[in-house]
Amino acid sequence: MRPACEKCQTPTPNEGEARICSFECTFCPSCAEAMHNTCPNCGGELVPRPKRKS
Ligand SMILES: [Zn+2]
Ligand SMILES: [Zn+2]
Repeated sequence: MRPACEKCQTPTPNEGEARICSFECTFCPSCAEAMHNTCPNCGGELVPRPKRKS
């Protein structure tokens, strides 16, 4: 679980919004949208990250 967007370094806390690919590359929603929900590292689809229950 990465703590920040890999593109713009915006923090992506557990309780906040984030997008991940199947290899757990992590991006903030605005970057994911700008990249059309496609991971630039592996070409995978970026999906909303499930929120982890504490
Ligand atoms: Zn970002
Ligand atoms: Zn990826």
